[in-house]
Amino acid sequence: MAETIFKKIIDGKIPCHKVYEDDHVLAFLDINPLSRGHTLVIPKEVAETLDHLSDESAAALGRVMPRICRAVMKVTGTSEYNILQNNGRGAHQAVFHVHFHIIPKPSASEGLEIGWPLGSLDSKTAETVAQQVKQQIAADRP
Ligand code: AMP
Repeated sequence: MAETIFKKIIDGKIPCHKVYEDDHVLAFLDINPLSRGHTLVIPKEVAETLDHLSDESAAALGRVMPRICRAVMKVTGTSEYNILQNNGRGAHQAVFHVHFHIIPKPSASEGLEIGWPLGSLDSKTAETVAQQVKQQIAADRP
């Protein structure tokens, strides 16, 4: 697989506006922000989508995300924001290295806009799908 632009940023081959770094995680400003303070948080581990990420990197991301969110919200004076994490081209992923967007929502016209076509869940489908997912999770223990 070709090296992604985020791997190049991790390796210092191209610059970024870094806001946080530790052994497992790097965070920097998005180059085309949806709102002021739009930040990307990425694992240093190379993984295309979230389901390929190790527990160690996932835990490291989870540990630091709230802290980075607090900082971005404080600096932007915003209390509302979205976390966006795209996986796959069809799901709007453009850079194939796992990343979480932190997108401040200072007003209705700034930040992320979401289409949310509501469906409905009948109890038979819910029972089947929940059971299937439960079994898959149990089979995927680390
Ligand atoms: P996604 O559609 O979830 O894959 O989003 C990729 C994001 O990466 C977009 O919001 C881009 O603006 C951002 N991006 C691409 N290249 C860079 C870069 N060199 N530095 C910062 N952000 C970038």
